[in-house]
Amino acid sequence: MLLYSEFLLLGLEHTFSYWERTAFTDNADVIIIGSGIVGLSAALHLKRQQPELKVTVLERGFLPSGASTKNAGFACFGTLSEQIAYLKKSSEEDVLRLVDYKWRGLQRLRENLGDGNIDFHQYGGYELFMHGEEARAEESLDHLDYFNGLLKQVVGSSDIYKPADAKIADFGFDKVSRMIYNPYEGQIHTGKMMRALLNKVYEADVLVLNQCNVNNINQDNNGVRLNTSHGDFKAGKVILATNAFAAQLYPELDVVPGRGQVLVTKLIPGLKLKGTYHFNDGYYYFRNIEGSVLFGGGRNIDFKEEETWDFGHTEEVKAKLVEYLNEMILPGQKTEIDYWWSGIMGFGADISPIIKEVQPNVFCAVRCNGMGVAMGSLVGEEVAELALQ
Ligand SMILES: Cc1cc2nc3c(=O)[nH]c(=O)nc-3n(C[C@H](O)[C@H](O)[C@H](O)COP(=O)(O)OP(=O)(O)OC[C@H]3O[C@@H](n4cnc5c(N)ncnc54)[C@H](O)[C@@H]3O)c2cc1C
Repeated sequence: MLLYSEFLLLGLEHTFSYWERTAFTDNADVIIIGSGIVGLSAALHLKRQQPELKVTVLERGFLPSGASTKNAGFACFGTLSEQIAYLKKSSEEDVLRLVDYKWRGLQRLRENLGDGNIDFHQYGGYELFMHGEEARAEESLDHLDYFNGLLKQVVGSSDIYKPADAKIADFGFDKVSRMIYNPYEGQIHTGKMMRALLNKVYEADVLVLNQCNVNNINQDNNGVRLNTSHGDFKAGKVILATNAFAAQLYPELDVVPGRGQVLVTKLIPGLKLKGTYHFNDGYYYFRNIEGSVLFGGGRNIDFKEEETWDFGHTEEVKAKLVEYLNEMILPGQKTEIDYWWSGIMGFGADISPIIKEVQPNVFCAVRCNGMGVAMGSLVGEEVAELALQ
């Protein structure tokens, strides 16, 4: 009899039984690579459109291991200065299209999963301008009426962005000179959102297999063959939903990774923060989570260093986050950091996601540009529609 280690050496652990082949590895109509919000939303849409389809999701992590379980859980569609920055390099129609996409994406996420299941709360969001950024604040305020008028077409109200300087003192911030409020911004519990999405796809009889890395994808007689860390799988069609990691399988795709480092504090008695907060062009963001503060960002300190597929931290980013936390967000309070984590986003020169056929019967839906909570549900649906055509 062979020992298990000898099995591994001979590659025999990949010999699937007849039963495994016909029920697990070779019977999928569609295999989705990646169980983030995009991959699972695609799976859900496929099953809703064609319940008889056999859909399998292959995920290399023990849990989803990219951005979907690691993000900040902001349900947002852009600060005023983000809209201005985008308008400077694109048209009014483009700005409107992007906001509309994120807005509709958020509504779809809420419809799909239910507000209660994802802890959705519309506490509103704030953009902060620091001392020394008064000119940028003025520029934003000068555009306030224009954007409120423009975005009314999407949000249904022109009462979107409004000055909120009077609240700076209420929150106890230091070094903040101006603030703009958006009541339509919300927040979710990212972990609950992903659990709810997984429950939906399980209910729809989607097979989700974890710790299964896809090494390469090849054309096969009647479909596509995927070589994985557990042997070969066959499918009629494949959806690549690997976001930041897309170029590992298709180097020609314009997706570069961008790491986001995040901390969460221990409980803060009498915490005054409630809502989502952004500053420095959105490179820093913080929010309340029950009685603690989540704070992340700082990718702009060294873009090259953060252009990585590796999870982890750098001392520079950690030091900057701690400095802002202690001096600006919670000044004069002895705040203890509970722990840190990081997640990997997918960016590109173009701000829109890539949804297209990359080779016969292989479709990709990648590059959410750090906005996948907002747009991921629709990105998943669109690639599913493409695969169904
Ligand atoms: C720190 C941080 C904060 C963020 N905050 C927000 C926010 O507040 N609001 C917002 O809208 N967006 C936010 N985002 C962005 C958002 O989380 C992402 O855009 C979104 O999760 C992307 O979803 P996805 O399904 O495309 O990718 P992912 O969630 O990254 O999923 C891709 C999956 O593919 C798997 N995979 C990769 N390669 C392979 C392979 N070869 N074989 C098998 N599996 C593979 C990975 O393990 C991963 O689970 C944030 C992201 C980060 C990191």
